[in-house]
Amino acid sequence: MMSKAIFSLPLPDNRKIKLTNEILQMLFSFAQDHKNSPESGGILIGRVLDCNSHIVVDHASRPMETDVQTRFSFIRKAAGHQEFFNQIWESSGGRCFYLGEWHTHPEKDPTPSTIDKREWRKLLNKTIQGQNRLFFIIVGTTELVVWYGQRQASKNTFLRIGSYCRNEIQN
Ligand SMILES: [Zn+2]
Repeated sequence: MMSKAIFSLPLPDNRKIKLTNEILQMLFSFAQDHKNSPESGGILIGRVLDCNSHIVVDHASRPMETDVQTRFSFIRKAAGHQEFFNQIWESSGGRCFYLGEWHTHPEKDPTPSTIDKREWRKLLNKTIQGQNRLFFIIVGTTELVVWYGQRQASKNTFLRIGSYCRNEIQN
């Protein structure tokens, strides 16, 4: 039987972000654990639960053919990811929204590079769907780390809210 395990991390405002076993498995399937495996990435899509305002990550797009993947870089193009989003948005009756981005790193316990932070700042400043908060995930070879980005007048901030170990995720 398929596991429905849901793993949650606490946010600074007492809410939680929840990732399903299925999503975590999918993200770890792109881990750069071989010397040739390229960097991968995509967008995170989810919804806010009416009952308690917790955030659930329901979907994540996979690398598309138009993206540029090398060992140490991933350039996501809008094509494909936008269509993926539109489909989910429509089938959810407009309940799902853009939550942020994920990408991989060829290191065990990943940390964002200077370029990553610059990209994350840009995304926060775009205010996609009116959001001033986004999640950023980096999938390492043994750990997956989640950051919570907040747009602020002075400087955007990124808070590391937690991580998942690859071996705690069921197959
Ligand atoms: Zn990176």
